[in-house]
Amino acid sequence: MELKLEGITKSYNKGKTYAVNDFHADFTPGVYGLLGPNGAGKSTLMNMITENLDADSGSITLDGASIKKMGTAYRSLLGYMPQQQGVYDDFTGEKFLWYMAALKGLGRKDTKETIERILAVVNLQGDRYKKLKSYSGGMKQRILIAQALLNDPKILIMDEPTAGLDPKERIRIRNFISDISKDKIVLLATHVVSDVESISKEILIMKSGRVVRQGTPQELLLEMEHKVFEALVTPKERKEYEGASFKIANVVLTADKVCLRVVSDIRPDIGEVHEVRPNLEDVYLYFVE
Ligand code: ADP
Repeated sequence: MELKLEGITKSYNKGKTYAVNDFHADFTPGVYGLLGPNGAGKSTLMNMITENLDADSGSITLDGASIKKMGTAYRSLLGYMPQQQGVYDDFTGEKFLWYMAALKGLGRKDTKETIERILAVVNLQGDRYKKLKSYSGGMKQRILIAQALLNDPKILIMDEPTAGLDPKERIRIRNFISDISKDKIVLLATHVVSDVESISKEILIMKSGRVVRQGTPQELLLEMEHKVFEALVTPKERKEYEGASFKIANVVLTADKVCLRVVSDIRPDIGEVHEVRPNLEDVYLYFVE
């Protein structure tokens, strides 16, 4: 299965804002992390992939067939998890799933079994009769994932699936996505690097509507070799770094000095400097900030 996007472009304000600009990608089964700051164009891109929005130009094909021509055959393969909204607060978890199944046009007979199975997958059987407004953030995210899985989608699009979660819930949801991603194309948009670094087969870094970097986490890390340093500096030297507009990934205060994590093409020479191994936060900072 291959979902191919070629030259996808979408502008607003009569071409003044390019939300997505000449986007190309080839997606095959596995998790893709779509990483970018707010306003990078992630939601707009996902809205075009899910056919909620038309592109100005470019094409999207699935195994060579235009998704526009495929119509409902394409949409039946899609699962979409939008960002959390409080619209269905008075529904119980189970009623919400029945409602979403009806919207997706799923038959009543199969839906009962499907809901049982999916409630087990997202570990919400015990909370099915509680109203959504009483759910915790993690439970809400899981019920939103559950509705996206009702039609056993082959293409799963997730917008900030860990937004608003505490660190423990974040890890749980992340592992959970990794578990269900077998044989599916999963596109996961986030601005949080740790959401995608361990589970993605590829990461696409977006900025101002464009992909600025794409690759496996290993490839991206390799590109950053010899570009990340730790500098132990005095407060005065720290000001020199800030004044010279170095990219500072982290600041740790020690007893009398400050340890800066610096991302730079050239080895800085202020303070006691040594090279360190890059991580994906450094990659993100390098390409996005
Ligand atoms: P992200 O999901 O990465 O935060 P978005 O796709 O929401 O980014 O937004 C990308 C850009 O397009 C932003 O500059 C945003 O202001 C603009 N934009 C998004 N939707 C609209 C809209 N309906 N009308 C005008 N501008 C929009």
